[in-house]
Amino acid sequence: MAEHAVVIAGGGPTGMMLAAELALAKVDVAVVEQRPTHVLFGSRAGGFHSRTIEVLDQRGVADRFLAEGKPAQAAMIGATVLDMSDFPTRYPYSLGIWQNQIERIMAGWISELPVPIYYGREVKGFAQDGAGVDVELADGEPLRAQYLVGCDGGRSVIRKAAGIEFPGWDATRSNLIAEVEVTEAPPRGVRHDATGIHGLHRLEDRRTFRVIVTEQRLGPSSEPTLHDLSSALIAVYGTDFGIHSPTWISRFTDMTRQAASYRDGRALLAGDSAHVHYPAGGQGLSLGVQDAVNLGWKLAQVVNGTSPESLLDTYQDERHPVAARALQHTMAQGVLQRPDGRIKALVDMVAELAIMDEPRKRLAGLISGLDIHYDLGEGHPLLGRRMPDLDLVTAAGPLRVFTLLHDARPLLLNLGEPGIFDITPWSDRAQLIDAEYGGPWELPVLGEVDRPTAVLVRPDGYVAWVGDGTGTGLRDALTKWFGSP
Ligand SMILES: Cc1cc2nc3c(=O)[nH]c(=O)nc-3n(C[C@H](O)[C@H](O)[C@H](O)COP(=O)(O)OP(=O)(O)OC[C@H]3O[C@@H](n4cnc5c(N)ncnc54)[C@H](O)[C@@H]3O)c2cc1C
Repeated sequence: MAEHAVVIAGGGPTGMMLAAELALAKVDVAVVEQRPTHVLFGSRAGGFHSRTIEVLDQRGVADRFLAEGKPAQAAMIGATVLDMSDFPTRYPYSLGIWQNQIERIMAGWISELPVPIYYGREVKGFAQDGAGVDVELADGEPLRAQYLVGCDGGRSVIRKAAGIEFPGWDATRSNLIAEVEVTEAPPRGVRHDATGIHGLHRLEDRRTFRVIVTEQRLGPSSEPTLHDLSSALIAVYGTDFGIHSPTWISRFTDMTRQAASYRDGRALLAGDSAHVHYPAGGQGLSLGVQDAVNLGWKLAQVVNGTSPESLLDTYQDERHPVAARALQHTMAQGVLQRPDGRIKALVDMVAELAIMDEPRKRLAGLISGLDIHYDLGEGHPLLGRRMPDLDLVTAAGPLRVFTLLHDARPLLLNLGEPGIFDITPWSDRAQLIDAEYGGPWELPVLGEVDRPTAVLVRPDGYVAWVGDGTGTGLRDALTKWFGSP
């Protein structure tokens, strides 16, 4: 039986990001993916938001996505764009890039890391004991692992096999999404009506159209057909534009559910396996990638024996509330996308509020992921928030903070008197950098904050301790997050 420290079920965006994080932490990780290759048929998600660009930048790979994507102000509430171009980040925008491009770029990145991928293999279930997990595959020998992470999407086999509840809201409406050719030119733009949102958008090849149409009645869970798409289009536009030659037809709904627990012993969930929602607002992929970045270093430390298993509890403590908030936002968005006369009144009222500075910043902070605040206790506003990507001056020359995170190692950044910290007991895990920074300290949504003298940054880029000129609390923070000396 082949053995790995961690087996990831599912090689979508979440699974690949988690594999990269674990491989960077030198964990023996393997991915089991049911597709024969990484190729994703259909464009699916249309991009990701600012914080996701930042976390990719923290690993030195954001440029690969930026080279293929298009920056856009895509954070929205109702029909109002929440312009975030004044946010203090290198990326004050979202990136428009199709999911099949994202997955191709991610697969290219992890092929440079030691990550074996078992393509064309389907996980059927698992059994765990005190020492590990037997991962059952549809054909062939099981795999053995210390931990199994279900990144296997909304219908997750791992979540079901673990018996983890998935409470939430049933679907009330469904959309068909497809890529087809047409014989009649469809109208430009998006149409909103009391059923929902509809539109046909020409893709880069100039021949194929990406179609999204809301069905008049909630569709069945079976695979949709070209006939279903034709009927749905006729109901909205009076014609199906002569659709033919589909390369992809899929159905999604506004079902909104979140796993009651992100962990059952040695099995964990991340990404869509832990939360599903209507794609309004385009947050699903970003949530999954950031689940992976939160879990990766913690699981690596547990597997490597530097931290106790209880560190894994902080994964759910931190990520469950973030997804719960996003789910709430997508449900509100879903309602605002059905502008019958009464809801139109609400859309207009929300639009009036959303262009005001404070609501705009709050909503854009939520959608972009830049306002994430993990509850790490009372203290400086930086505590539990993302470390800004400052331009530092160091003995080695100018350096960006994110460059120091490329290896996914903890960072103690001393911005005060050089040489005052000694972290020798943790020097095998954490890096200590003396640096100068004279610029402003500005956080998205919050604005300017007091200048700290030092910060301890976790591998996921969140601040775990803030110095006030002394080392008070540093030892405890190092022990809590990165294990005993
Ligand atoms: C129409 C549409 C538009 C969207 N638009 C956006 C958007 O603009 N922005 C955004 O952020 N999100 C968007 N989303 C959501 C986004 O696509 C998902 O949130 C994202 O793909 C989740 O990634 P994941 O890796 O967690 O799961 P998935 O992408 O579902 O990946 C799961 C992987 O696991 C594999 N798998 C499943 N079961 C097994 C098994 N038993 N054994 C082995 N492998 C298995 C699958 O083949 C797949 O590769 C959209 C979704 C839809 C449907």
